Amino acid sequence: MMKIELTTIDDTNTAEIKNVLEYLETEKKSAIANGDEDKANNCWLNLASLDLNILFIKAFNNIKLKNYRQAWNELEQCEIKENYIRENSYKDHIAASRLDFIKSKISKWQSLYPYCLFCSPGFKVGYYSCSICGHKIRPRSRCEHKKGKVYNGQLCVHEVHDMEMLEISIVTKPAQKYSVMHDDSTLDFTLLEHLSSFLDNAFEDWNIRWTKMKFPIARFSSVSKEDKCPCKSDKTFEACCMAKNEVEIPHVDFLFSKPLPSDAENIVFPYDNG
Ligand SMILES: [Zn+2]
Ligand SMILES: [Zn+2]
Repeated sequence: MMKIELTTIDDTNTAEIKNVLEYLETEKKSAIANGDEDKANNCWLNLASLDLNILFIKAFNNIKLKNYRQAWNELEQCEIKENYIRENSYKDHIAASRLDFIKSKISKWQSLYPYCLFCSPGFKVGYYSCSICGHKIRPRSRCEHKKGKVYNGQLCVHEVHDMEMLEISIVTKPAQKYSVMHDDSTLDFTLLEHLSSFLDNAFEDWNIRWTKMKFPIARFSSVSKEDKCPCKSDKTFEACCMAKNEVEIPHVDFLFSKPLPSDAENIVFPYDNG
């Protein structure tokens, strides 16, 4: 297989990458037609991995463009795809398709989002069926296919039938991350903005370290007692840190493997404006 460049958003749109995707689709179809299950599964694996890389690049690009909600949804899709690929993959493939890198970065990007409230719909499900053989799944009647495994080039999922929505609840740890309850215009995306401004592409390595930094109380003389406490506790200053000698403020360090541009070396994130 030829080597293809797939790093930037432009790379996701080249004739070369389209040819590779088409080639793999055609190969998969003929493998399925010929009953060559190993080959069909391998085509699925390569297609899914390319798809994941492309989606991850798109998510990164959307963070750069400040389309934070869209990037959030794409990161969640990446998370789901990455799980399926890993489940059907093997060691060498995982290394060659950047799976570990993408997995570790998805959760780190997500941790920099200010989202904390999600809606979670409760459903009543009539029944599930297997997407491979159509078998109606009942407690004592299952087919041979395992959910999340690839059979003959096709991912096995359980399809939901006769679904009824029961209620919607608001949760902090959602089953699906796309159901964000916030209005983005009211939120602070500074961390994402700062971090992405230092990265040229989705595959540059970086890390984060969450710490707390102590500041003398004198630094906060302009904060009035009814204001929210600068320690981010959500209490008022008076009810929280006003009587202390020092205020501990959450602080994040971004760690890069490449040198920063010299004009950015002195920047401090994110809450210290003193
Ligand atoms: Zn089945
Ligand atoms: Zn406080």
